[in-house]
Amino acid sequence: MKSYLPPEYIVERDEDKCIRCKVCVNQCTYDTHSYDAEDDVIRSKDENCVNCQRCVTMCPTHALTIRKNPSSYRDNANMTNDVIKDIKKQAETGGIILTGMGCDKPQLTYWDRLLVNASQVTNPSIDPLREPMEIRTYLGSKPDALQMEYANGEIQLQTQLAPQLTLETPIMFSAMSYGAVSLNVHESLARAATKAGTYFNTGEGGLDPSLYKYGEHTIVQVASGRFGVHSKYLHAGAAVEIKIGQGAKPGIGGHLPGEKVTPDVARTRMIPVGTDALSPAPQHDIYSIEDLRQLIYALKEATNYEKPVSVKIAAVHNVAAIASGIVRAGADIVAIDGVRGSTGSAPKIIRDNVGIPIEFALASVDQRLRDEGIRNRASIVAAGGFRSSGDVLKAIALGADAVYIATAALISMGCTVCQKCYTGKCPWGLATPDPWIGKRINPDIASERLTNLLRAWSLEIKEMMGGMGVNALESLRGNRLHLRGVGLTDTELKILGVKMVGD
Ligand code: SF4
Ligand code: SF4
Repeated sequence: MKSYLPPEYIVERDEDKCIRCKVCVNQCTYDTHSYDAEDDVIRSKDENCVNCQRCVTMCPTHALTIRKNPSSYRDNANMTNDVIKDIKKQAETGGIILTGMGCDKPQLTYWDRLLVNASQVTNPSIDPLREPMEIRTYLGSKPDALQMEYANGEIQLQTQLAPQLTLETPIMFSAMSYGAVSLNVHESLARAATKAGTYFNTGEGGLDPSLYKYGEHTIVQVASGRFGVHSKYLHAGAAVEIKIGQGAKPGIGGHLPGEKVTPDVARTRMIPVGTDALSPAPQHDIYSIEDLRQLIYALKEATNYEKPVSVKIAAVHNVAAIASGIVRAGADIVAIDGVRGSTGSAPKIIRDNVGIPIEFALASVDQRLRDEGIRNRASIVAAGGFRSSGDVLKAIALGADAVYIATAALISMGCTVCQKCYTGKCPWGLATPDPWIGKRINPDIASERLTNLLRAWSLEIKEMMGGMGVNALESLRGNRLHLRGVGLTDTELKILGVKMVGD
């Protein structure tokens, strides 16, 4: 069938600058460029280009420019160009439109409607270069009060503390499974988490044995497919996370197509090579909070009650009640993933239409747990499209103990958010199980870029805290008086629990 879809992007090559080095030919995983030996010229197929910018970045003479195709359908605020293209695409394929990364709709980002306070005259600001600023964070169940005893001239703690994760920065790397991302990406995340004193999350595909040595900075995930889950794996991590849902595709399971299940991925996931790795939408042994409690305690039992257990859910309409049930079921950490959360592959219709923004989910969960007097029983980790240290700081003021980042981490390693992760042919070597393409990620360089990102955001958090007159993140946590809303309705302000600017 002839496609009625025009190319999305136009490749422009400056022939005066091009030296026919064929770098673009070798770098493009979508076969956009080819070398015509007869005419000694490089040719491009515009329709293959996804605008990943790999060739533009690698071209030694800067001969390439990728432009959005300027020809468009007639302007229509309802039937937009994107809508028309999606309908045409489905008329040609008869299938669900897949996409990668997070929801890109502008109206769902509320961090930009929240502004942070700063000290002026009273409660003076603090110079973070001269004064100590405490951003260390502990994740896990905390007692409401500590019992101390004075004996032999020393104060001794009597309360038995639950296992905790210690974070030197309130930012962790979110779940990305091996298979959805390359082994080199897992290694880069593991090394950066170790260096920065934080954690990376295996995602639902198990952990390659070569990475067990980073276990002290690893959260091992248990999802509905139970891929790669065994006793050694559970013991390898510092915490275990049960994945119920994720923000990019609430209510549906995961699917790693057979062609992405390479021999190494298959070994780690403990499934045959080339078979589809299907994670069912629900965990088939969890149909109630009581069932969840059983799994939480089974995992605690399996790890000798030495590791915190986290439960990850997607942010949905009744998220506060669900989170309350999860905490009462015994989880030490509740991770909530908002509607802008990313994924390697999801139906576009679900990614863009299902779930709620993390800002509202976080505020309502924190408030509900406080109202019920159980806020200390579990830490809250927020996820879903964090773009900067400003977003992180606002999340902490709204009630998060820490955040997960994934897209920002991938961007720091080269990702240009082309949203084609589901193809498995990521030209930057990130969202691919192919060891050949995965070689484009050098863990020495990628882990340094990740560590730099965490360092930069941590410094900025300290800088902002100083400006607010706050020297410990703990005193900012859930302190919504430090936030003001702009351009929000009364109802939105009420749910977020923040005042209007000027108030
Ligand atoms: S990478 Fe640049 S210089 Fe090399 S062939 Fe492609 S366009 Fe020409
Ligand atoms: S990870 Fe790769 S495929 Fe996915 S959006 Fe980034 S550059 Fe594109």
